[in-house]
Amino acid sequence: MSAEPPPASSAAQGWLLDGHRSPALAEANRMMTICNACRYCEGLCAVFPAMERRRTFGDADLDFLANLCHNCGACLYDCQYAPPHEFAVSVPSNWAELRTDTYEHYAWPAGFGGLFRRNAVAVSIVTALAVAVFVIAVSASMGSSFTEAHTGDGSFYEVVAHGVIVGVFLAGFGFGVLGIMGSVRRYWRAIGGGRVAVSDLVRAGRSANTLEYLDGGGVGCMNEDEHPNDTRKIFHHLTYYGFALCLAATTLAAVLESGFGQEAPYPVWHPVVILGTVGGIGLVIGPAGLWRAKVGRDSELVDQASRGMEMAFLLMLMLISLTGLGVLVLRATAAMPALLAVHLGVVFAFFVTFPYTKFVHGFYRYAALVKHHQESPTR
Ligand code: SF4
Ligand code: SF4
Repeated sequence: MSAEPPPASSAAQGWLLDGHRSPALAEANRMMTICNACRYCEGLCAVFPAMERRRTFGDADLDFLANLCHNCGACLYDCQYAPPHEFAVSVPSNWAELRTDTYEHYAWPAGFGGLFRRNAVAVSIVTALAVAVFVIAVSASMGSSFTEAHTGDGSFYEVVAHGVIVGVFLAGFGFGVLGIMGSVRRYWRAIGGGRVAVSDLVRAGRSANTLEYLDGGGVGCMNEDEHPNDTRKIFHHLTYYGFALCLAATTLAAVLESGFGQEAPYPVWHPVVILGTVGGIGLVIGPAGLWRAKVGRDSELVDQASRGMEMAFLLMLMLISLTGLGVLVLRATAAMPALLAVHLGVVFAFFVTFPYTKFVHGFYRYAALVKHHQESPTR
């Protein structure tokens, strides 16, 4: 820690990778060496206490720390060595770049992460439309009408056969879950995660569910200027809990159908409809608010290269909720069949790509929080 940090320009010149796999990791190592000597920010979040438990910073340490960061921005605004100081310490944007790099580096199957990072919006939209067209073609070949209204119990299945809906959902969801499990498993092993105690899982769950480290040490999150607030935390909660409610509605509907023979669509007072409607509204307002916050955010806090992937994720969330709410509101009209096909396409595209989208940040961050609580049982 007494070693003189290398100059700010070293990593940018590209010749000093210093054993790291990328210039961004070499730059993170340089900045953590400075921060570990300074330690001014140790009360802001979990990153700095975790940093202080280390004397050197290999790639796996930096991958761990990057995903522990919630990008509140406080350490940039508080830093006496931030640009234009010659040390040029700018932690939040570097961590943001490294997080995207970890999603790509640990992605399973290897290579899919890079494909999505470069073409996020196009891959999502083309996949959704392709599946919608596929659903319409298969259903039309089975005699379904996409130009008439269908009403009453089982009307969704008059449009798209039950087997097609279940097949599309299971194929997308199954691939997505496998991809995430494979990716996070590689990450967990790399950062040295071992056996996990239930108490660590619970404490990490509490930190994640409350976004404990998105408050800049208690003042709030930095956004477009030096005045912190809780805007991002509120919209993130709406997105997170909105998604959870929609998932609960889908799961309950599947149980009622397969276990009790109660077929959708359900009446407006039904728990499936209430859960789906409340969750869907949260899943429109939350991503829209995050989108707005992202566009107006201080550019020093974000990684511009990751913007396409992040916007594609928010776009897909909004499309899922808007098409789902559209099916609910227009279910007795002739617009329902086409809307249902598009909704299925968007859901499939979302699930099949989620190991490579911003969605995966929740799993990497949770793994990093578990590791943090393992290392520091009293914090
Ligand atoms: S971000 Fe700046 S102020 Fe904070 S610990 Fe690092 S060098 Fe010190
Ligand atoms: S941006 Fe916020 S969460 Fe990330 S390291 Fe800085 S203070 Fe911690």
